[in-house]
Amino acid sequence: MQKNWIGKSYGCEVDFPMADGNGAIKVFTTRQDTLFGATFMLVAAEHPLVMELAKGKSSEKEVVQFVEKVKKQDKLMRTSEYYEKEGLFLESYCKNPLTGKQMPIYAANFVLADYGTGCVMAVPTHDQRDFEFAKKFNLPLIVVIQPKNKKLDPATMTEAYVDEGILVNSGQFDGMENTKVLDAIADFLEAQGSGKRTIQYRLRDWGISRQRYWGAPIPMINCDKCGIVPVPEKDLPVILPENVKLSSEGGSPLAALKEFAETKCPKCGGMAKRETDTMDTFVESSWYFDRFCCPDFDNKPGLERKKLDYWMPVDQYIGGVEHAILHLLYARFYTKMLRDFGVIGVDEPFTNLLTQGMVCKETMKCSEHGYLFPEQAAEGKCHLCQKEVIIGKTEKMSKSLKNVIDPDYLIQTYGADTARIFCLFAAPPEKDLEWSDQGVEGSFRFLNRLWRIFTEYLEDIKKITTPAANMTLEGEWKNIRRKTHQTIRKVTVDIEDRFHFNTAISAVMELVNAIYLVERPAKEDAEALSVIREALEAAVVLLAPIVPHIAEELWQILGHKTAVCDASWPEFNEAIASEEEITIVIQINGKLRSRMTVPVGENTEKIKADALADVKIKALLEDVSVKKVIYVPNKLVNIVVAQ
Ligand SMILES: [Zn+2]
Ligand SMILES: [Zn+2]
Repeated sequence: MQKNWIGKSYGCEVDFPMADGNGAIKVFTTRQDTLFGATFMLVAAEHPLVMELAKGKSSEKEVVQFVEKVKKQDKLMRTSEYYEKEGLFLESYCKNPLTGKQMPIYAANFVLADYGTGCVMAVPTHDQRDFEFAKKFNLPLIVVIQPKNKKLDPATMTEAYVDEGILVNSGQFDGMENTKVLDAIADFLEAQGSGKRTIQYRLRDWGISRQRYWGAPIPMINCDKCGIVPVPEKDLPVILPENVKLSSEGGSPLAALKEFAETKCPKCGGMAKRETDTMDTFVESSWYFDRFCCPDFDNKPGLERKKLDYWMPVDQYIGGVEHAILHLLYARFYTKMLRDFGVIGVDEPFTNLLTQGMVCKETMKCSEHGYLFPEQAAEGKCHLCQKEVIIGKTEKMSKSLKNVIDPDYLIQTYGADTARIFCLFAAPPEKDLEWSDQGVEGSFRFLNRLWRIFTEYLEDIKKITTPAANMTLEGEWKNIRRKTHQTIRKVTVDIEDRFHFNTAISAVMELVNAIYLVERPAKEDAEALSVIREALEAAVVLLAPIVPHIAEELWQILGHKTAVCDASWPEFNEAIASEEEITIVIQINGKLRSRMTVPVGENTEKIKADALADVKIKALLEDVSVKKVIYVPNKLVNIVVAQ
C-alpha cells in the first residue's frame, strides 16, 4: 500500500460527453492507446455523480443502498485483485470521444473517488478488473491491441491481454505499436478538443488524529449546536493536563478527564466537548528543526526568517529506514508550505540523508518456553527446564523476539565506550549490524591495549612536544610518523565524507599496533619520543568522538589542561603522509598478471621497462609480440600483446 502514497503519472484527461448532451465525464488515463476499446464507464460508488445520475430513475433506491454498502467496505480491500467486483447500472450513457459509441455508466466498488477523477474508462479487453466486470454484466469487448504472435478473439478470451502489441480497431492509428502511439493519440485528442495532456500527482490523505495522550492537542471544540468550533486564538495553546490516568484500555485517557474534556462553546457559550484526540507526533516533527533555529522567537508561528536563512537546510539527516517515506515526506511537504508562505527560504529541509542499518542478533528458543532472553539461555540451556536452547535466525533486535542486549549490563561489565566502539566498528552505518559477544570482547580488549600503551610511554613523553613538520627522520620513526599522518587523513575522510566509523576505527587500531611493534626508544631519544607522542595524541583525538570517556581521561594524563572535546581536529601533512614507494599493477591485455613497487615520481620509461622485466611477466611474454605498453600514472602498466 505504501508504494502508492505518492506518485506522479503522465497521461491525458479525456472528456466523455454525456449521451443526453448534458456535460461530460472527465477521466484521467495513462492508457490513451486503449481508448478505442473503452466500452463502458465506471464511477466510484461514493462519487457525487452517482446520486446525481440516479436521481429520479427507477433504480434510485437500489443505488442508495449500494452506495451505503460500498462505503462500509475497506478501501484497500475493495481495490484488491481478489475482491468481488460489484457494480450497478445507473441507467445513463456517455460517449466514447473517439468512436462515438454509447458507453453505459456503472457505479462500481473497485473504483475509488480519491483516485484520479473518480471515474474510469473501462477497457475490458486490456484490463483484468474491467474484463471480469464486463463478463459479469455482459458488456461488449473490443480488442484494440493485438499481440504479435497470436490473434485475440473477444469471444474466446479468458482474461485481459495486458502486454504490448499493435493497434487494431483504432481508426487511423491501426498498425502502430501501442507503446509508441501515446503521443499521437494525445495530439489527436487535443486537436479535436476532447482531451489534454496532464500530469497527475498523488498524495494520500494523512489522518493526523490519534486516540492517545501524547501528541499536541487538536485545538477544536465540538458543540452540539454549532458543530466543530476552533479554540479562539486568545486561548491558545491548549495545554495537556498532567493528571491523566493511563490505562491499558485503549482510547485517549483525555476523554475521561472531565476538567479537560468539558468546556464551553466559544460561539454559543453552551456546554461543549473539547477534542480529546491528539495529533500524530509527525505533525510537530515535520518542522521542529525550524523551531530549533530560533527557540526564543515569540512572534507567531515562532519562526524567525533571519535565523532560518542562516541555519537551514539541515546538513545531515540520519534516520532509520522507517522514516524513508513518512517523516521525510511530511517534513518536505511542510517545508514547501512554509516556503510558499514566505516563512522559510529553502525548498528542501535536508541536504544529506543517511539511513542507518538495524542492530540484529540471533534468536534463542526453548521448545517448551518459547523465546529466551540471552541471560535466560546461559551455556545453551533454558533457565527454566535446562533443555538445549535452539539457536534461531538472526533478526532485528526486538523485545518480542527477546534477542536484545541490556545496555546497563554492557555498561556495567565493559563501560559505555566499549558498547559505543563495538557498534561503530561492527558495520558501516548504512548496513545492519550483527551483534556478537566476541566483537564486544574484542572492542574491550582494544581499549585496554590503548590504555596500556599510554601508561607505558606516559612518563617518557609527558614533557615532550610533538615533532616540527620539517623534522628529518629516518627508518622506523619516519614510518611511524607517516602512519600517523596517513591515519589522520584516513579517519578524517572516512568520517567526514561517509560516516564510516568502522574503517576509521580500524585505521586507528593499525596505528596503535604499529606503535606496539616498534622497538621502544631510549629515554634520551627525544626525537623518537616526539614521534610517539604525536601518534598517541592523534589516536586519542581521532577516537574522542567514538569513545569520549577514555579519550578524555587519556588526554588529561598527557598533561592537557583543556578537554579533548575542545581540542581541534588534528591536521595531516600531505608530504609526511605520502608514501615513498607505490605499488603498480601490471596487466597483460587488461588482465592482472603481477605487481611491483616503484619509487614515487619514477620516470615513465623506467617503469615500463621494469614492468617488462618483471619475472612473471617475462615468462608470459615469451611467445607473444608486445604491441604497446601503456602506463596509467601511479596505478598500472598495461602491456598490449597480439592475441
Ligand atoms: Zn456552540
Ligand atoms: Zn525451557
